[in-house]
Amino acid sequence: MKLTFYGAANTVTGSKALLETANSCVMVDCGIYQGLKELRLRNWAQLPVKASSIDCVVLTHAHIDHSGYLPLLVKNGFSGPAYVTEATRDLCKILLPDSGYLHEKDAEYANKHNFSKHSPALPLYTQDDAERSLKQFQVVDFNHVFDLDDQLTLTFRPAGHILGAAQARFEHEGTSILFSGDLGRTHDPLTVDPAPGEQVDYLVVESTYGGRSHSKEDPETLLAEIINRTSGRGGTVLIPSFAVGRAQLIMYYLMRLKDSGRIPDLPIFLDSPMAINASEIFRHHHRLHRLNENDVQRTCNIAIYTQSVEASKSLGTNPMPKVIISASGMATGGRVLHHLKSFCPDVRNTILFVGFQAPGTRGEKMLEGAREIKIHGRQIPIRAEVQCLDMLSAHADEDGIMAWLKSFTVAPRMTFINHGEPPAATSLHQRIEAELGWTCRVPNYCDTFELNSR
Ligand SMILES: [Zn+2]
Repeated sequence: MKLTFYGAANTVTGSKALLETANSCVMVDCGIYQGLKELRLRNWAQLPVKASSIDCVVLTHAHIDHSGYLPLLVKNGFSGPAYVTEATRDLCKILLPDSGYLHEKDAEYANKHNFSKHSPALPLYTQDDAERSLKQFQVVDFNHVFDLDDQLTLTFRPAGHILGAAQARFEHEGTSILFSGDLGRTHDPLTVDPAPGEQVDYLVVESTYGGRSHSKEDPETLLAEIINRTSGRGGTVLIPSFAVGRAQLIMYYLMRLKDSGRIPDLPIFLDSPMAINASEIFRHHHRLHRLNENDVQRTCNIAIYTQSVEASKSLGTNPMPKVIISASGMATGGRVLHHLKSFCPDVRNTILFVGFQAPGTRGEKMLEGAREIKIHGRQIPIRAEVQCLDMLSAHADEDGIMAWLKSFTVAPRMTFINHGEPPAATSLHQRIEAELGWTCRVPNYCDTFELNSR
């Protein structure tokens, strides 16, 4: 087998790896790049491998940095199946068309206000392109050994992280490789724990939070403090959130805080049609998360859902203290951009991030203390309080990744560390070598490795 990294190599987005055997060419994850411009430009450049030469795609989970390139791959000639878990398929049904819609809106907005260098600005792909790509999805159940061809099998194992997220194990004539996908945290109130490690020859492990530990403080207490402080000064708490997973976790905490009277009875708005639909999928896939039906019901009922653009816009002029949860989580697009324009300039408000902020994103800049950010071609001053509850992240921190690696009974022959910025990947690399004595590599973009059989 041969393994090539076309994304998430020394960075956290654009996940794409190519696994090649004599008979099959498999793309493992098919994500778009987000954040830094030099990376985003790769979304527009020709992929080093011809789309039509790929036999199948395997997605570990639905997040756009793992799935959002698929519509473009299909547009460019990929015609094979895309293997996913059932919940990943259901989430992609809302995430991918929404992504296409946002690409179209961005291009439209750029053309209308004339701030693109390209004339006319074109979308990376459209909602129609995304809808078309959904037809290629094929569901593979967790823990089922599925034949990709006569010699190559695929098995999904739970990865935690978000609903339907999987580790993907491949085996070819006795040689195995496991992709961790994005690893969730253990003891998350919502998501299941990642399945423990198993004996494999090769391992690809993510390193988003390499070198970092999530705060051990109680997120519910911190959330209550932030909401009470902000509403006390008459402000609004705006939470840019990943629509899938994190939005539901925040709503769960808000439900508990309201029920126990630890925060005032202020209105909570879920302003993301996608997050609203994701909540429905949560209800449907009850076996894949920890909440019982009653908790799901109460969590979903805690927020006022704003579907229409008009209702969304009216939040910006509503002077009452409130909580708004809106996508996207790194403020790279979506309705949250309009809310940032409304709420960032006022000292009474709080902008609360709840997950990893990739370099180059507005979220990262704001957490670094930027005094202004650019939205839709305009500089917006930031006078609001800016906070981050990183313990609400859907990713394991470095201790969490190490605990998972320690569950492997036998050292893999080689461990590839991807999906992390260089300092994060290096930190995890050093720690794995020091504590486990495993042989590791941090691949660069387009690096290829021969995976020798025994
Ligand atoms: Zn993810």
